[in-house]
Amino acid sequence: MPLLVVGSVAFDALESPYGKVDRAVGGAATYFAVAASFFTHVNLVGIVGDDFTEVDAQIFHGRTINLDGLERAPGKTFFWAGRYSQNLNERVTLATDLNVFAEFKPLLPEKYRSSEYVFLANIAPALQCDVLHQVKKKPKLAAMDTMNYWIERTNAELRETLKHVDILMINDSETRELSNEHNLLRAAKHIFKMGPSILVVKRGEYGAMMVDHRGVFCVPAFPLEEPHDPTGAGDSFAGGFMGYLAGSKDKSDASLRRAMVYGSVLGSFAVEKFGLDRLRHLKRGEIHARARHFAKLTQFKL
Ligand code: AMP
Repeated sequence: MPLLVVGSVAFDALESPYGKVDRAVGGAATYFAVAASFFTHVNLVGIVGDDFTEVDAQIFHGRTINLDGLERAPGKTFFWAGRYSQNLNERVTLATDLNVFAEFKPLLPEKYRSSEYVFLANIAPALQCDVLHQVKKKPKLAAMDTMNYWIERTNAELRETLKHVDILMINDSETRELSNEHNLLRAAKHIFKMGPSILVVKRGEYGAMMVDHRGVFCVPAFPLEEPHDPTGAGDSFAGGFMGYLAGSKDKSDASLRRAMVYGSVLGSFAVEKFGLDRLRHLKRGEIHARARHFAKLTQFKL
């Protein structure tokens, strides 16, 4: 089943104790689409400037990613710069230049309007809602991400968008801020009243937690000796998670649990190298091998 994603396609400048790059192709929709394309067809809605070259677009080529919804506008591509601390746990945003993204009005190509699986990556909630409204029938599964910036500045629009999605995938500090509740289980109950029936909390090196009416399911982060760059880990997690669900066309509890593992698998590969360097050369066999490794990692007898 094709999976629709709307979000940023960007140039990133990244600094970590392991190195520095000035201009790497990035963006939430890019990480998401590349990760999800290992499982299903992806239709990407976003915008780039006239500085986004054919070479930059190569990250999408040779994959099941349709770019009819990727608008090209005069001007510069969205630019984001970030620096990580020694232990990679803290990040400072050094620059967020919206550029062509500032005027972005997503317009879904006709063939995207019957999408049954939708992911709204981290962009202004009003744009997320607008995209969802352009989809003709209620999708089988709609999920979204957001961030503190939108929780603080556009809370009413965010609340409106939340009414229309099934899954909210955010990190722990965003969960606490949105719900005004420190305990994540109690936070989930608050968030269910806002619309979503499933909350997936991305917890970085502590893994991820899914809460729904059936209960809680947790996956660890894959233990890595030398993660290099956490950028896009959350978006790659979301891509693995939603890609798996769209590819399997199965929303059962067992399938959602496997999706959590594939999300963690894709997130773990993303951090192994800078930017998209690891996902760029990733093979399906490596994904399945690491998923089996996860099964071993978490197996025990009582
Ligand atoms: P993450 O590490 O999950 O926060 O995702 C990082 C990616 O999100 C980078 O590739 C950035 O280009 C992109 N990004 C950072 N800030 C924003 C923003 N305000 N809106 C949209 N995308 C962003």
